[in-house]
Amino acid sequence: MARPVLITAERRKTRQIRVGDVAIGGGAPVSVQSMTTTKTADVDGTLSQIYALAAAGADIVRCTCNEQAAAEGLARIIPRSPVPIVADIHFHHEMALAALEAGVHGLRLNPGNLRKPEEIKLVASEARDRGVPIRIGVNAGSLHPDLYKRFGGATPEALVESARMELAYFEEVGFNDVKISVKASNVPLMIESYRLASETFDHPLHLGVTEAGPPPAGLLKATAGIATLLAEGIGDTIRYSLTADPVEEARAGRQLLEALGLRERKGLDLIACPSCGRAEIDVIGVAKQVQAALEEKHLPIQVAVMGCVVNGPGEAREADLGIAAGRKKGHLFIKGKIIRVVPEAEMVEALVAEADRIVAEGIEARLAAADSSAEAEAAEDRRALLSQKGEDVNNSEARVELIRKTVASEKG
Ligand code: SF4
Repeated sequence: MARPVLITAERRKTRQIRVGDVAIGGGAPVSVQSMTTTKTADVDGTLSQIYALAAAGADIVRCTCNEQAAAEGLARIIPRSPVPIVADIHFHHEMALAALEAGVHGLRLNPGNLRKPEEIKLVASEARDRGVPIRIGVNAGSLHPDLYKRFGGATPEALVESARMELAYFEEVGFNDVKISVKASNVPLMIESYRLASETFDHPLHLGVTEAGPPPAGLLKATAGIATLLAEGIGDTIRYSLTADPVEEARAGRQLLEALGLRERKGLDLIACPSCGRAEIDVIGVAKQVQAALEEKHLPIQVAVMGCVVNGPGEAREADLGIAAGRKKGHLFIKGKIIRVVPEAEMVEALVAEADRIVAEGIEARLAAADSSAEAEAAEDRRALLSQKGEDVNNSEARVELIRKTVASEKG
């Protein structure tokens, strides 16, 4: 299978914490988080969303704990959850204490709206005694008003100072089991804030562009912020905050980490050429058919759909498996080597069957089982297409002739 190569700076060294059985920081794989949108008091509804999030790639799920009924819900959800649960706390320190009683694996506190030092220290002491980590979740939109005034706005320095002050309260009671986030909805501000946080703390960092909005713009904003930092080696756990079904958040997080080579591929990686004048098939339509047929199988392979046999197999030679079209035929290839030629109408079916065989038998075995006449047949198709279409896929000579005629008749 194709092993992705990570082309990034070295990961920044951070200390390690554990949220349930998930290690964060200290060289652990970057983890994916998401948050439920159900009422936490609705135990079955919340659990079914947690299962969907875990299936889509979430390693940790956060639930709001905003009232007593939510804390009671958490007590019932936690023993049945497939992933560790973090309670999200705003304003009410007693909800943090209640969530700890419920058995949560982590807390998120917002220093912007939970401000009394004695309450913060009480929560930290309780968390310390139970071995439960806390995320200091600073948010540019809810920055402490004093800091806003002191720094003249929600600047990177103000966000990092907010986390530093909270950390100082924790340290007063001997608690250091902490990860930090300094989120903003403005991407450049978010990036600068995390860069500064990374220079300031050795605690693991939880990355996110807050309130990124609905996809596709929200996905782009979140990816711009999170991917930039990950490529610099900054970040230990991530969350996409989208105005969408949270399953999309979990899926996006997982896909980003796989695309950067930070997590091993769990599912299909479909690549397809953008199509051009040489395309012998409807690339978009065939790519959709292949995606629909393969995605539900969860095969950890890279599959290529290429529009023509002239350039396709060469351009996609890194793919585990691919198909290229030419002269009403489908050319099936593994690592760029043509293994079989099938009628065009059967190529999607043949591709799906070969994907199953690759996963069952391995790439080397499937290369060894290649049809011995396939390469020669493909080479003949390539030659025929080149001489038929040549390099002039745009019919340039005929167009030039038409342009000359048009200009001449307008002049005359
Ligand atoms: S593979 Fe063929 S059809 Fe697709 S973009 Fe390349 S040249 Fe064009």
